[in-house]
Amino acid sequence: MRVSKFFLPVMKETPAEAQIASHRLMLRAGMIRQAAAGIYSWLPLGLRVLRKIEQIVREEQDRTGAHEVLMPTLQQAELWRLSGRYDAYGPEMLRITDRHDRDMLYGPTHEEQITDIVRTAVKSYKDLPLNLYQIQWKFRDEVRPRFGVMRGREFLMKDNYSFDLDESAARLSYNKMFVAYLRTFDRLGVRAIPMKADTGPIGGDLSHEFIVLAPTGESAVFYDRAFDGFEIPGNDVDYDADLQPIVDRWTSLYAATEDMHDPDSGQLPMDDSLISGRGIEVGHIFYFGTKYSEPMGAIVQGSDGEKITVHMGSYGIGVSRLVGAIIEASHDENGIIWPSSVAPFDVGLINLRGDDAGCIAACDDLYGKLSQAGFDVLYDDSTERAGAKFARMDLIGLPWQLMIGPRGLASGYVELKNRATGEREELSMDAAIQKLTDQKGAIG
Ligand code: ATP
Ligand code: MG
Repeated sequence: MRVSKFFLPVMKETPAEAQIASHRLMLRAGMIRQAAAGIYSWLPLGLRVLRKIEQIVREEQDRTGAHEVLMPTLQQAELWRLSGRYDAYGPEMLRITDRHDRDMLYGPTHEEQITDIVRTAVKSYKDLPLNLYQIQWKFRDEVRPRFGVMRGREFLMKDNYSFDLDESAARLSYNKMFVAYLRTFDRLGVRAIPMKADTGPIGGDLSHEFIVLAPTGESAVFYDRAFDGFEIPGNDVDYDADLQPIVDRWTSLYAATEDMHDPDSGQLPMDDSLISGRGIEVGHIFYFGTKYSEPMGAIVQGSDGEKITVHMGSYGIGVSRLVGAIIEASHDENGIIWPSSVAPFDVGLINLRGDDAGCIAACDDLYGKLSQAGFDVLYDDSTERAGAKFARMDLIGLPWQLMIGPRGLASGYVELKNRATGEREELSMDAAIQKLTDQKGAIG
């Protein structure tokens, strides 16, 4: 993509309304525009990142055997009356009336909708276990939308729902999601630590929040330093195998958010192995038994013809929040530093002299070769001064920058810069392409 043809409305000034780095940087980099309080339009650069995150989340869900569906954003109030949540939900729910005076709502979540699908479509124990997921916009009329996409009113969530015959089967479904979440966040380039979460009136220990550490996080967190040495389950993870040992290991250490943190808890390490900090909730997994299946009548027939009320769990990932959370975890004073898996482009190619015929020819040539080699390249072919181009490239945070100017060209080299480390190298064009190819291979 040529910068001259791209829609990239970057801002030089720091927007006054943005209190945290990710919000500032997303506005400045032309990733999003605010449409109303807590509601955003996604511009091309931002949308590329959102789509990449979505795709990684999708791949890791598919790997577990979950099936993708897409439910509507608008739901009938009727279903929510069955579960008792229409009245219980409160002012966060956006309620709408259609022209026939029917009560509707913009879904803040989809337990009722999915339970309605399953209660009408699933009749036998043979159809279970079942896990259905979607990546869909939610609306929650948050009292205080803030921090840009981190706490929006409209936001994109991956939500899925597991259906099992009993609690022990539900635990297997829960474990699959636990492992899938570890893998998902790792692939997204962030460290997310599973912390025990409140299970409310249902009780039990099957709820975890996945928290990305960042000084601007909304919750205070406490966790064992030893998490740093933990390995993420690899590509060869077998979701049909017993995942309990992996889950046990990851839940063996102390990790809790402020709500759950009990300073008198016996689990609390007595030495300085405990880190306290702040974190951003990027995912939440939850087993809630028959809370919805019971009132809504999601019942299947067992092997002896008996009626079994299905056991459910739900699992969320804040897809749009993650764009902000990743930036919070990875930026410097010049701008964003994207992990390569979610970067909007792989490489930024900068022509230092956009009005020089030799530089134009060399850049066009390199742009063609890189594209041919499978790289997504953002090519700054503009005639702006070099300083402005450097600043813009640093701001939008592509993992690699390739710079070509008259001086290098005369001696046959291009400059390759690593955005994260700031390291620069002078290489021949071919060597630069080779190096980028090797890097890409190493990431996979
Ligand atoms: P929070 O405690 O942050 O309000 P929640 O517990 O209400 O979140 P869940 O219902 O567990 O959220 O939703 C699943 C995920 O959706 C959360 O882990 C979070 O990443 C994301 N999410 C929730 N609310 C918002 C919001 N207002 N804006 C952006 N993402 C959100
Ligand atoms: Mg939550």
